[in-house]
Amino acid sequence: MGEFELIGRYFAAAPCAGHGGEVALGIGDDCALLAPAAGEQLAVSTDTLVSGVHFPERADPFLLGQRSLAVAASDLAAMGARPLGFTLALTLPAFSADWLERYAAGLSRMAERCALRLIGGDTTRGPLSLTLTVFGSVPARQALVRSGARAGELFCVGGPLGDAAGALPLVLGQLQAPAELAEPLLARYWSPEPQLALGQALRGHASAALDISDGLLADAGHIAQASGVAIRIERSRVPVSDALRAVHGEAAALQAALAGGDDYILAFSLPGEALAPLQAAGWPILAIGQVLAGQGVQLIDDAGQDITPAVRGYQHFRETP
Ligand code: ADP
Ligand code: MG
Repeated sequence: MGEFELIGRYFAAAPCAGHGGEVALGIGDDCALLAPAAGEQLAVSTDTLVSGVHFPERADPFLLGQRSLAVAASDLAAMGARPLGFTLALTLPAFSADWLERYAAGLSRMAERCALRLIGGDTTRGPLSLTLTVFGSVPARQALVRSGARAGELFCVGGPLGDAAGALPLVLGQLQAPAELAEPLLARYWSPEPQLALGQALRGHASAALDISDGLLADAGHIAQASGVAIRIERSRVPVSDALRAVHGEAAALQAALAGGDDYILAFSLPGEALAPLQAAGWPILAIGQVLAGQGVQLIDDAGQDITPAVRGYQHFRETP
């Protein structure tokens, strides 16, 4: 099958392809055309997933389809942007109808959940790798940037942390757990839920935000640095799921929540008075610390002792001394 037939069959005809509304032109021309509403800015983000680095080589293509789009869409959530569309640059080692069908199905499932349309891409041969670029729309000057946190505010997250990191040994077959405990963790790894609605609800309230992809402490550090503030996190407030605790025990569960990547839960700073109304409106917001004058991220125990660990998250290219 040639490149164009492949694109036509598996992607241009996928349920998530098409145009309409702000997607003025979709797959098939030299460019797609986006038409964001007047007064809106275009939010753009790219993520690459490489086989053997970001997912196991033999990963189920349906799950990979879901996950590859979810991690990209999560960046739109973190900016408070409304999803418009995405492109897919696909590098494949060989043609496999079964793989493509299932990948496109997983992709379409997540695209529907995120209200994202596939608007273009590129298809090449080589070691399996997936690059997805997402486009969203946000009212001018209302995007949730990382640099707006101010001393005196609360530091919050949008849900329990560490489940995806806790799922990794299950994904890699290094650990077994009963299905009722393994399933919720595996679901968080393979099918993270980009917090798109929460991100949009935080516009006008949160002063800074991001999605946690490298671990809570590492990502809190990004807000602290961009905003020129310190962030103090209380260990006892860090939310950990029952399944994560049951599979890994208390200490390892906390470690996964603090330093494990791949959660794609939002973390943000919020003026204190904004918390109760947002919680009352049903948003799953947990205050886990404070924004202070100073710099860096600090973890404290119930007695207020500094217990900040040395290793904070995952970084590519970090082995060099
Ligand atoms: P060009 O050579 O002009 O860059 P291509 O031949 O690479 O265009 O692609 C033809 C059309 O198919 C373009 O609209 C492109 O965006 C789209 N496309 C290519 N690969 C994919 C893919 N994997 N998923 C979705 N659309 C794709
Ligand atoms: Mg091309």
